[in-house]
Formats: sequence, structure tokens, C-alpha cells
Amino acid sequence: MRRLTTILSIATMISTCVACRSGKENLPNPFFEEWTTPYGVPPFDRIRTYHYTPAFERAMSLHNEQIAAIVANADEPTFENTIAAYDGAGQMLANVANIFSMMCAGDTSEQLQAVEEQMVPLLAAHDDEIKMNAALFARIKQVYDKRNSIDLSPVQVRLTEKTYNDFVRCGANLSDADKARLKQINEALSLASVRFGNNILAENNNFALELEGTDLDGLPASVCDAARETAKQAGKTDKYIFTLHKPSLIPLLTYSSRRDLRERIYKAYRNRCNHGDEYDNKGIINDIIRLRTEKAHLLGYESYAAYVTADEMALSPRNVYALLDEIWTPALEKAKEELEQMTELFRRDVADENEQFASWDWWYYAEKVRRQNYTINEEMLRCYFSLDNVRQGVFNLANRLYAITFRPIAVPLYDDEVSAFEVLDSDESHLGVLYFDFYPRAGKSQGAWCGYFRAPSHDADGNRVAPVVGIVCNFPRPTISTPSLLSLDETLTLFHEFGHALHFLFSDAAYNGLMDVEGDFVELPSQIMENWALEPEMLKTYAVHYRTNDIIGNTYIDRLHQSALFNQGFATTELVAAALTDMDIHSMKEYKETDISAFEYNALYERRGLIPQIEPRYRYPYFAHIFSGGYSAGYYFYIWAEVLDKDAFEAFRESGDTFNRRIAESFRAQILSRGGEADGMTLYTNFRGKQPDKTPMLKSRGLWKEPEEQENATADGVTLATDNTTTNQ
Ligand SMILES: [Zn+2]
Repeated sequence: MRRLTTILSIATMISTCVACRSGKENLPNPFFEEWTTPYGVPPFDRIRTYHYTPAFERAMSLHNEQIAAIVANADEPTFENTIAAYDGAGQMLANVANIFSMMCAGDTSEQLQAVEEQMVPLLAAHDDEIKMNAALFARIKQVYDKRNSIDLSPVQVRLTEKTYNDFVRCGANLSDADKARLKQINEALSLASVRFGNNILAENNNFALELEGTDLDGLPASVCDAARETAKQAGKTDKYIFTLHKPSLIPLLTYSSRRDLRERIYKAYRNRCNHGDEYDNKGIINDIIRLRTEKAHLLGYESYAAYVTADEMALSPRNVYALLDEIWTPALEKAKEELEQMTELFRRDVADENEQFASWDWWYYAEKVRRQNYTINEEMLRCYFSLDNVRQGVFNLANRLYAITFRPIAVPLYDDEVSAFEVLDSDESHLGVLYFDFYPRAGKSQGAWCGYFRAPSHDADGNRVAPVVGIVCNFPRPTISTPSLLSLDETLTLFHEFGHALHFLFSDAAYNGLMDVEGDFVELPSQIMENWALEPEMLKTYAVHYRTNDIIGNTYIDRLHQSALFNQGFATTELVAAALTDMDIHSMKEYKETDISAFEYNALYERRGLIPQIEPRYRYPYFAHIFSGGYSAGYYFYIWAEVLDKDAFEAFRESGDTFNRRIAESFRAQILSRGGEADGMTLYTNFRGKQPDKTPMLKSRGLWKEPEEQENATADGVTLATDNTTTNQ
């Protein structure tokens, strides 16, 4: 996932409000200085939590002055004195906010959370003040109205349109009364999102499953070692501790022959923030949905999903549902077949007919089927995916495709376990700095993401400002006997996040306001990297056994590929289920107080026939992507972008060389370096020469049926629909 937190998206554009005075505004503060660190990276060794509030205060006030100067300009509005001037304003604020937002996600503390709860509503208010500044908007509108009759480049026209639309979407055209209400809503929403995320963090940290003796039945030694490490860190040397972090949870679900323990940890994971206590998120969700629905109405949309998708490639909820619905039925069918295979094995273990295969059994029996049918298992694979080797693998890939190189560097770090590299272009010029932060910590959110401490941009003289990028993961730590060994899934995650990093590192968009792409386009650069990870030629460069140094063999690679479609019914169903619940709850036309659990049950099990053995990948109370991340009414982004990435990868395949340098250069030139200089569909068709085709995605998930098997197949039925003739706005 790419980190698109509320703070980040608010702050990159923003300005007014008087922050509570911290009393520390006049003390030395690294944010008030020019940084003399190598490559100008943040001086993490000097930044303290108490520096943020005064830095935000000063940055917002500076931004306000810059905005006031644009408004006060007596000259007629031009692209330069209005659009470009606005685009260049707020740099200090963006710089502070970028670092702050990365720290809140990756390395927070109670003190930092307190600053976050204080700052986020102020930042939201600051952004609103600017977006609803009538005098500023009047100037922007004047340039917008004449954009096609004055001498502007296509990129300048694009920036003018994006800026104008952004203001309109933020309420610039509303009456004063509606503007005031929208400000209240945004402030409340920003705070609700922060609380939502912090509750999840607390729930994750509040749970520990302490095991000993026969509790460990079925678990491989490496999994036990990792649990022992966790226990040691908690000061319990005689125990094994499992947590709700994925690297701990998934191995237990996959290998533990103790069904009772699988059930216990699974239920703990599934019921996070759903206990009716201080960390319960159900009330917050109701607040968020109520406020988002009201916001959509104020801005002229029938639902929040309609508001969001109008600005994406998808254009409308109808187009999103069309894709999701098309995948849902074949995926569910396939999942039912997978369940049948597993139930046979389950019955051998559990003779009691009253006991049914349950959702917490899925990982365990899927692994058994994998072993039986493909003679391959996750633990054997792990030995080939040591973290260092996988990282070398992504470096190799980037070098092969784009001829870029990586050099370890010594720079200030925010944690001892973080490492940093300079990224050099093919001509040895500096592209940017890349940090890796791999292991779980109490102050780190779950999952993996890529963001930046400094955005790629251009300074006032048009010189490129190189980005400082961070990849943050929650991979298993090394143990006494092994280095950090990644599962197949975690290996793909590193390739994925690295793809986001390349998108930032290559970005050369002409203006700050043109750096972002649509949400349903954003996962194209990341997901396409996953396609290369398992190419035999690629595997042989990095999949090396950590003990024997043997390169992964052909038999093994063949088995890996044969098993690629296995369990895809389940994986697709749980993903699409989450995307559907997200769209459903955000498609509410009139808010009414909602029993969240009943809503989910109705949406998936009653209406769409989901089987009880599968749950959506995220349940509402801990669905951080949509309630505290940047993916509200946007969890579909992943599957939408998968259509793009699989089809884009076909371009390499069709050339007969999956590492084709010429096509890679075109991918960089047309997509990775362009930011949002054009809309996603234009960027994509510029690269591909045609619109994206859904077939490769369906094939890769084992869901493709030849046209004669499909009902109502049409010649153009396979392209990604972006029908904009819809009643939804
Ligand atoms: Zn991503």
C-alpha cells in the first residue's frame, strides 16, 4: 500500500488557523534550519516530538502569508502569478507534514499520538481555509475560464484544471453556510480517522498468546524461534509468544495442529476494536459514515462513493461494481472447489460430524493441500527468501530494467534497525535516497507501505529536488539460528513496495500539484513489480538457500508456478469481499444509524452468497485502509490496478523478453516519471497503445473462461469499463 494518510494529502496542498501555543516556538528547532545532512535528509538524530507543533505553527503561518500575497496581487490573474504561485506555496508545511506523517505510521509513541490528535484537525482546518478562500478561488477561476485561449502548455492546462477541480471538490463553490458546515465535518472526520487508527494499534499491542509445551504442536522450528524471540523481548524467557502481527499470526494459522489455538488467535484478530470497550471502533465508523455522506450531499453527490470515484479512473461506483461483480461469482465458485478439497483432509482430522470446517481452518488445510498436491510448502520456500537476498533481488530487477544502482550510505536514522541507500540513475546522477525499515515495533502500524520524507519536486528555479523515500514493513526478525526469512507473500510485498518507491524516485512531474495520480492508478507501478518476482530468470538471481547457498532449482520453480493458481479462489474472494463492503457502506444515500456487523453480514452472506468459511480480508472495525488511510471507497483500487499491471506486463511478454529494456524505458517515460501530468487512462494508453484488457488479470487468478464458455461475451467485453453515462455523479 502506498501511504496516503489524511495528514499527507491535506498538508501537501495547504493553510489558516491559530494553533495552540506550545511555548516552544522560539527554541532551537531543526525544522527552522537549512539541513546540512548528506543529501539533505531529515536530521532524525535531532528531531524531537516537541519540535513538531511549533514547526507546524510556523509552516502554516508562512503558508498563509504566501496565499495572502497571491490574493493581494493587483495584477490580473495569470498562470504564473496564481496557479504556479499557489502550486509553489506551502513547501515548509509539506516538508514537516511528510516527515510527521511517516513517523506517526512507522514510529509513533503516546506523545506523538497526542501531537497528532492535536494537529490533524488544525491541519484540516488550515486546508479548508485555503480551499474555501473566495478571493483566491476567484483568481484561480479566472485563469481556469481562459485556460484554452491563453498560451499554456498541455501540462499547464492540466495543472490549472486539477487545481480548479480540487477547489471545487473541497467546497469552493458552496454558500458561506455550507462552507462553515463542511469545515466542521472535515475537522471531525480528520480526528475520527486518527482515533480509529490509534485504537487498532492499541488492540494489536494489547494481545499476546503465550504458549508452551504441546501448544507448539505442528509449528516449524523457525516459527517457534521467532515466538521465543518475541517472548524474550517481553521478558518471558520460558514462553513462546504469538501476536496479532501478520508475521506471527499467519504462521500459527498455517501450521498449528491445535485447532483451539488457531480459533483463539483468529478470533482475537477478527474482533479487534469490536469489544464494546474504549477501543471499540463501531461508533467511530458510524460517525465517519454519517459525516462522509453529509459531505457528499453538500458537494452535490448522491453518496460518498460517488464523490470519491468521480475523481478516479473508475468515474462512478457503477463502473467499480461492474468489475467487482464480474470477478465475484467465478472467484467464489473457485473458493468452493478449494474448500471441497480441504474438507476431505479436515474430515480425516476431525471425525465429529458436529464440527464444521471454519474460517480459522483455511490456512492450515490450504497448506496441507499445497504440500499434498504440489509437494511444496511455505517453510521450504522461506529458506530461499532471506530478507537480504530478496532486497538484492529487487535491486537486481531495477538494475536490469532501468540500469539504476544502489549504494549504502551513512545518514541519520530514526531507529537503529533502519538502513539507507543512495539511488543512482544510469548516468550515475543522484535520483534520491531510499530507507528500509523492516521489522515490527510497538509504535509501528500493521502492514507494509511506502511513503516519502521529502516529496520529489522542482524548486523555484526549476531544478529537480530529489525525493527521500521510505519503505516500511513488518517482516519476521532474524532469530538466533536464522536470518530474517520471508514467506512468498512477504517476498512479493517487498517487490510491491519497491515499485511505489521507484514511482517516487523516477517522478519528474513539472509541478507539485501534478505529482499525484488517481487512487486506482497508484497500485500499477507497485503491483507490476510482483510479476517479475517469480520469473525463473529473476528467481535465479536472488532465491538462494540461506544455509547451503544453493540457487533455487528448476523443479522447485516449476512447482511454484504450478501452485500459483492454488488458493486463488480464496485470496480473490476475501479481497473482493472487502472491496464490496467498502463500496456498500460508502454508497449509502441517506445515512441511518447502522449495526456494522449486521450490515456486513447482509452485504456478503445474505445478498452475495459468501460462504461462512471465508470472511472479508478486513472487517469494518479494523478496516484501516478505508477509515484511517487514503482508500475510502477505494479498496477496489488494488483489483482495478491489477487489470492495469497484468495487462502492462503483457507488453513485456509479447515482446518475447520479459526484461525488455526498451519497454521498461517506455514504462518509465510514460508512466513512472509522469506523475499525474495526464489522467491515468491517457498515461496508460500512451504506454500500451491501447486500453487495458481484463483478460490477463482474470487468467492470472484462474478465473478466465474462454469466450464460448462465457455467457453474453462481446467483442469489447474485456476492456476495463469506464462508462460515464450514469446517474451517479
Ligand atoms: Zn501498494
